[in-house]
Amino acid sequence: MSDHSERDLLRELFPDTARELFGSLPGTPVPTLGLYPVADGRMALVSGGRLAELEPIEQKGTRAAHCDLCHVTRSRSEAGIFRVRATERTTLYLTLCLNTEHCQRRAGRQGLEALAERVLQRSAVGQED
Ligand SMILES: [Zn+2]
Repeated sequence: MSDHSERDLLRELFPDTARELFGSLPGTPVPTLGLYPVADGRMALVSGGRLAELEPIEQKGTRAAHCDLCHVTRSRSEAGIFRVRATERTTLYLTLCLNTEHCQRRAGRQGLEALAERVLQRSAVGQED
């Protein structure tokens, strides 16, 4: 349990994303784990008080794509490639279904936790060096 709320943290780190996720309504429940579509095709990965912003990148080629969350193979038109700044020097690339609602249902909480670990753990490690 942390002293300041996740919402405050998100507002501080990603003010635009926080506004999109929570709006301006006071008392809106703060999501604790999940992927949330935000503006411009971006996604926010939220886990506990941590958040990563996934930025869509232009797709090249027509090869099938393997979703990093639900591990289903999709055609390129059904999946997107996202760039995540894990640390100042590390960028991760993730392939995710564009229909994130179904994707997250397939992946389940465990799948989301694994993804969050992969993306958000790195930022913690990165701060050490
Ligand atoms: Zn998926």
